[in-house]
Amino acid sequence: MDTTVFTTIESEVRSYSRSWPTVFTQAKGAVQTAEDGTEYLDFFSGAGALNYGHNHPLLQKALVEYITSDAPVHSLDMMTPAKRDFLQTFSDVILKPRGLDYKVMFPGPTGTNTVEAALKLARKVTGRQHILSFTNAFHGMTLGSLSVTGNSMKRKGAGIPLTNSSKIPYDDYFNGETEDFMWLERVLEDSGSGVDKPAAIIVETVQGEGGVRAARLEWLKQLSDLCGKHEILLIVDDVQAGCGRTGTFFSFEEAGFTPDIVCVSKSISGYGLPMALTLFRPELDVWEPGEHNGTFRGNNPAFVTATATLKEFWADDSFQKGQLAEAIATVHGALEQIAASVDGASVRGRGLLAGLHFADTEVAGKVAAESFRNGLLVETSGPDDEVLKLMPALTAPKDQLERGMGIIAAAVAKVTG
Ligand code: PMP
Repeated sequence: MDTTVFTTIESEVRSYSRSWPTVFTQAKGAVQTAEDGTEYLDFFSGAGALNYGHNHPLLQKALVEYITSDAPVHSLDMMTPAKRDFLQTFSDVILKPRGLDYKVMFPGPTGTNTVEAALKLARKVTGRQHILSFTNAFHGMTLGSLSVTGNSMKRKGAGIPLTNSSKIPYDDYFNGETEDFMWLERVLEDSGSGVDKPAAIIVETVQGEGGVRAARLEWLKQLSDLCGKHEILLIVDDVQAGCGRTGTFFSFEEAGFTPDIVCVSKSISGYGLPMALTLFRPELDVWEPGEHNGTFRGNNPAFVTATATLKEFWADDSFQKGQLAEAIATVHGALEQIAASVDGASVRGRGLLAGLHFADTEVAGKVAAESFRNGLLVETSGPDDEVLKLMPALTAPKDQLERGMGIIAAAVAKVTG
């Protein structure tokens, strides 16, 4: 993308390697409007924190009603009606219909907080230290979550050794040549291998930051079977792939296994408000009171919007099987056509965590920049930013999705033509 123009004010730390050179003043649904009046379709959705678009009217109404009612806004771990309603609704709408029996922990405001809690819990429960994670994984920017992140660029600034974790090959690492986890079983069973039995394995079912790599469902099931057999806890990091992104509420639903621990954040509040959950099997609840906490774990406005999203979108399967399934078909249909038009291009991802991989690592960035010039916000991901990463709102209307895909198709044709 064009790296020459930055609109950040001088005092802001440069955090992203590139930026959209404009100032956004309005955001509604899947559209953001800039100060100069230009409208942009948003296929970025706050890096997956805005699955229901910007300022969804129903959520906005619930939020305004709540914050003008003098009910508690900040409550740490005290019980409030907003928190009670969320817990009840999450149980009734999400857990019970899926046959899931999880305890719900509020570990702090963000994705990295839920990962930290999951890693610490797994170590405490098993009494083991070592955690396995995967090549190209992304789990967060605090030191525990960074230690299981598989991106060396993100890790190199840490300056201190990140210990007690090792990376193992993700599903795509050998281009489908390894069929199972036999090699891992061998080293775990071999007392002379020097491989410590891990407390846990942490996995993303689709690696969003790592290049929109989707693991095969059968590979995930094998991983779960291996963990069960060796009493290793399986943590699914659903921070980005969860809350409907892949087409089901949890990204592991179709793979037919139940993780021991699940990390949820980004779109759980549905409104872009910070909120995170760590879900775990009840028998893993070994926390002493106060053993793991954080000041901002009682964000009541976020509980209110979260409850509203669950009631509106997940109380039955009409959204999942209707609008969401249709949106996925629209995006993937267009992506397949675009990929077919470029030598070496391929479609990646699952559901609306979708990607276009190009053989030439320069292409995705140029396509993103060209798309921006034509009114579309779309990101790149992967170790070399070689993948165009599409994350439109799950609620984006069909005509907007088609228009966005048209902008991408034209940009790809221009850049590769
Ligand atoms: N896990 C995954 C899979 C993520 O994609 C992210 C954020 N991109 C995180 C954890 C960290 O979340 P946060 O930035 O909210 O700390």
